[in-house]
Amino acid sequence: MSTKPLRIAVQKKGRLLDESIQLLKECGIKIDNGRDQLKAAARNFPIEVLYLRNSDIPQYIQDGVADIGIIGENTLIEKEKEVEIVQQLGFSRCRLSLATPKGMDYQGPADLEGKRIATSYPVSLQRYLDANNIRADIHEISGSVEIAPNIGLADAICDLVSTGSTLFKNGLEEQDIVLKSEAVIAASPQIDAERRDILDRLLFRIKSVLAARNKKYLLMNVPTEKVADVTKLLPGMRSPTVLPLAEPGWSSVHTVIEEGRFWEIIDELRTKGAEGILIVPIDKMIL
Ligand code: AMP
Repeated sequence: MSTKPLRIAVQKKGRLLDESIQLLKECGIKIDNGRDQLKAAARNFPIEVLYLRNSDIPQYIQDGVADIGIIGENTLIEKEKEVEIVQQLGFSRCRLSLATPKGMDYQGPADLEGKRIATSYPVSLQRYLDANNIRADIHEISGSVEIAPNIGLADAICDLVSTGSTLFKNGLEEQDIVLKSEAVIAASPQIDAERRDILDRLLFRIKSVLAARNKKYLLMNVPTEKVADVTKLLPGMRSPTVLPLAEPGWSSVHTVIEEGRFWEIIDELRTKGAEGILIVPIDKMIL
């Protein structure tokens, strides 16, 4: 085991924490639970987890105090730090959006000229306004941005949205998207070769875990004369596996498929005579 572990920054608390730790766990990395600690070492992989405040993580990565971090892309953009995004993680998907009170006449961002906009993301908003040639008054507030129009603090808001239910509950309408975000792994410009090597090993595991998510292993019995028709419907990693069944005239067809895609073709599979269809979760997928 390396004497210099890869230091990975994760949220101390917040939305990204559980999924970040879950991802490491699915990569086979066992971390002693360090909720009350600032850092924890993994028992079976050369990494050390640093539990930090979300908004501090970009700075720690840039300075090389942490070698990598799991962080929302939006936070990296807002903090304007020089770090490299090495992997999109596909969770904590959200968008930074402009929203206005229901009923306000809004045709486009130009309608925000001269208006007061409340946000916790002033840098990202300012960039968007500049790009659209709009001058507006940005009110930076650190939380509960959605109540700003109701209490007369602002005419519009710019906030993170995932389902839209918070906006809806507060009588706001989502108008334009300023940026889209998801959790990513960001790496420090200071990372040394030894730790880069550990990062590559970690990324290999992460890619295998992510590839398996949403993918299913599909098995079914198909009349042998229909195998060609059925395989045309199936996008496989290479091509489906076709095995003869003990019963003459029947074959077993196996493939890997996205769950959503499966539901699109299920009716056609059955029309072609597929029976005994099994859909099995995949734990890891080594590409
Ligand atoms: P937290 O520390 O809990 O405030 O985490 C905030 C981060 O979670 C944001 O910077 C986003 O990257 C991510 N996120 C995902 N969906 C949302 C959402 N609907 N509202 C706020 N943050 C979100």
